[in-house]
Amino acid sequence: MSVRKLALITGSTSGIGLAIAEVFALHGIEVILHGLEPVDQGEAIAERFDNEFGHRPHYFQCDISEPLAIERLMEQVSVEVGKPTVIVNNAGIQFTAPVQEFPPHKWDQIIAINLSAAFHITRLALPGMLEQGWGRIINISSVHGLVASPNKAAYCAAKHGLVGFTRVTAMETADKGITANCICPGWADTPLLVDQLNNFAKENNTSFEEAKRGLINAKAPYPEFVAPSEIGELALFLCSDAARAITGTAMPIDGGWTAH
Ligand code: NAD
Repeated sequence: MSVRKLALITGSTSGIGLAIAEVFALHGIEVILHGLEPVDQGEAIAERFDNEFGHRPHYFQCDISEPLAIERLMEQVSVEVGKPTVIVNNAGIQFTAPVQEFPPHKWDQIIAINLSAAFHITRLALPGMLEQGWGRIINISSVHGLVASPNKAAYCAAKHGLVGFTRVTAMETADKGITANCICPGWADTPLLVDQLNNFAKENNTSFEEAKRGLINAKAPYPEFVAPSEIGELALFLCSDAARAITGTAMPIDGGWTAH
């Protein structure tokens, strides 16, 4: 019996999540779109997918900082589309400040969205994967799940936590046809970086475009941003049969950032 590859990708209205959804749809994986954006915006993306890939995904709007909202989301997904066999925990936010100035509500929000939501979605999706005897859990961590940078206390704590959570999930599911891995991107040119680029441009008295170059040069030997579609291709590989023994990893795709 072949397994239905049905992928719920959180935060797939934008940036990396959207690119993963596009790569999956192009290669015949059924996609479920999710984000914070209003339904008409999600539906516009679904319509484009229908035109480009011949598959119109469902779109679910849900604020995943709320565990109860996640429970409702997973119930709705299961009833309206089916139980996902692929989960991509991708939705995330950023906020930068030194520890002593870091607003506690921002800390709580980042931990809730970037870390706890992945736990809730995974715990609610695992029973369906266990029933199928097949599943793929892909958590979008970051280089900041492996190394630190100043002013990113909550983000680094959440992304390091995601790596630890993924390793435990992998150990519990490795003999059940399920894999759990983190992808750890370096800089990718998405809306998430806009505030950081504006800050960099202000502090260094440069243009927005020069700030992009500055951010890259500050961290990685590879002189370009990682393309979101390249992260999508890596996620696609993790969904393949050839990747069935790859579990519990935290894979950098970072232009060499974590090599030094
Ligand atoms: P983005 O800002 O382009 O997209 C973020 C997505 O998350 C959107 O779809 C948004 O709707 C969703 N989202 C945000 N808050 C939400 C909430 N409360 N509830 C539900 N959905 C919510 O960001 P991106 O750069 O594509 O980031 C995607 C992931 O990749 C994040 O986890 C981020 O930490 C990680 N990442 C990004 C980079 C980078 O350089 N852009 C690098 C490493 C890791």
